[in-house]
Amino acid sequence: MATSSELHFVLVPLAAQGHIIPMVDVARLIAACGPRVTIVTTPVNAARNRATVDGARTAGLPLDLVELPLSGPRHGLPEGMEAVDQVIGHEPAMYIKFLSAIWDLAGPLEEYIRALPRRPVCLVADASSPWTAPVCARLGIPRLVMHFPSAYFQLAVHCLTAHGVHDRVDEMEPFEVPGFPVRAVGCKATVRGFFQYPGLEKEHQDALDAEATADGLLFNTFRGIEGTFLDAYAAALGKTTWAVGPTCASSSMVDDADSKAGRGKPADVDTGHIVSWLDARQQASVLYVSFGSITQLTAKQLAELARGLEASGRPFVWAIKEAKTDAAVRALLDDEGFEARVKDRGLLVRGWAPQVTILSHPAVGGFLTHCGWNGTLEALSLGVPALTWPTIADQFCSEMLLVDVLGVGVRSGVKIPAMYVPKEGEGVQVTSGDVEKAIAELMGDEPEAAARRTKAKEIAAEARAAMVEGGSSHSDLTDLISYVSELSRKRGHENSTALPSAAAEL
Ligand code: UDP
Repeated sequence: MATSSELHFVLVPLAAQGHIIPMVDVARLIAACGPRVTIVTTPVNAARNRATVDGARTAGLPLDLVELPLSGPRHGLPEGMEAVDQVIGHEPAMYIKFLSAIWDLAGPLEEYIRALPRRPVCLVADASSPWTAPVCARLGIPRLVMHFPSAYFQLAVHCLTAHGVHDRVDEMEPFEVPGFPVRAVGCKATVRGFFQYPGLEKEHQDALDAEATADGLLFNTFRGIEGTFLDAYAAALGKTTWAVGPTCASSSMVDDADSKAGRGKPADVDTGHIVSWLDARQQASVLYVSFGSITQLTAKQLAELARGLEASGRPFVWAIKEAKTDAAVRALLDDEGFEARVKDRGLLVRGWAPQVTILSHPAVGGFLTHCGWNGTLEALSLGVPALTWPTIADQFCSEMLLVDVLGVGVRSGVKIPAMYVPKEGEGVQVTSGDVEKAIAELMGDEPEAAARRTKAKEIAAEARAAMVEGGSSHSDLTDLISYVSELSRKRGHENSTALPSAAAEL
C-alpha cells in the first residue's frame, strides 16, 4: 500500500473567495496528515492565496498551488476577470460567460494531470466545478465532491426537488420544506440551488450528474451542529459523506496570526491597527459588520444601516467594500460626515478586512453577517452570536440554522433576496430602526441575549473539539484519506502510475 506521503490529492475549487478560502484550509488539513496536495486555480485566484500557501509550505506542509490559464477574453470577459466577486455589478450575461470560461478549464486540467509523473490518488472537486467529472472519468481518478454551503441547505434543496416543489409554486409562495428533519419555511427565492436559475440549466444538470457519480461527498461542517442533516443527505443520495469542518477552527488556523490576517487575500487595512483599536475596547462590546466577498448593498440600504449603527451607541468595525466602488457610499461616509461622527467608536475598513483576526478578538461580541456559510462557521467556531442579514443563495438557510435550530442569532428582518425588492424600494428591506432594535436585542443584557452568548460559547468549544485528534471531523478526514487510498488501490492504480494515453482514447 502507498505510504501517505506518496499519495497526491488534487483540489479544484470554484473561483470564488467563499470556496477557495475553505478549500485552501482543506488542503492544509489533508497535507498535515501526510499526503501531497495541489490546489489548481487560475492566476488571479492563485495570486490572492499565494502567501497563505507559501506560509504553509514554509511550515513544512507538502502543498502546491498550480495555475491554469483562463480563456476569459475568448468567452467575452475582460482580461483578468477570474473570480465571482469581479463579475458582480456587471450584467447577468457576464456570469454566464464567466461560467463557460470556467467550464473550459477542463482541457488545461487534463493536460496538467497527464503531465504528472504519478497518477493522483484523488481529485476533490468543488460541487460547483462539475466540469472536472469527465476529466477524472477519462483518467480513471477517484473523485470526491465537496459542498461549501451547509448540509442543512443541501438537504433542503434536495427535498424540494425530490417532492417537485420547485415545479409547482410561484417564486414568492411560502412553503414548508417537505421531508425535512426540522420545520423550515421558505420560498423559491430563498431556497434554491446554486445553479438553479434560468439560463444555467446545463450547469445545473452537470452539477447534479457530477454529484451522482462522485465517489463520496465532503462538507465543511461538523456533526455537532449538522449531524441530522448530514445523515439525511447521505441517505438520500446513497453516498459516503464526510464532515471535515469547520476548517476555520483547525489549530493551524487558530494559532497562526499570519494565516488569519491574510485569509483570502491581503487585507486593505493594517491588521495591527485594528487589533490595537479592539484592545482598547471592553470585552464582547464590539459589533463586527461584514457582508462577505460578493454581496453589495445599495447606497440607500447602506445609509439605513449606517444610521442604525450610529443610533445603537455601540462600538463597531464595519467592512464596507462598497466604499471602493460606489461614489454614493463614499459621499455618505465622507461628505455627509458619517465617519467623522462615529470616529470615537466606529472603525471602517474600506475593502477587505482580516475577518478571522477581528472575530477572534475578545472585544468582539456580535457579528452582523450576510450568513455566507464561511462567515457563519467563523461566528460559530469563535463563539460570536450573529445578527443575521441574508441576501441570496444558501444564506437564508444559514439564518434558519443560526436562529431557529442553534439559538445563537437574531434576525435583522430581511425577507427576500435584494434582487426581488421592487425598484422603487431601492433595495431597502431593513430600516435604521430595525438595525438599532436588533443590535440592542443581540448585544444587550436581557436573559435571552445572555442565553445566546452561552450557547455560542458551547458550540465554539464543540467546533474546536471536532477538529482535534479524536474529534468527529478529524476522524472523518483520516477516514476519507484511507478510503480514497484503498479505492485507488482497488482500481489497480497503486502500482500503475501511467495514465490512459490521450491517443488510446481517440
Ligand atoms: N472575508 C474576509 N474579509 C472580508 C470579507 C470576507 O476575510 O472583508 C472572508 C470571510 O472570513 C469568509 C469569506 O471571506 O471566510 C467569505 O465567505 P462567506 O461564505 O462568508 O461569504 P461569500 O463571500 O461567499 O458570500
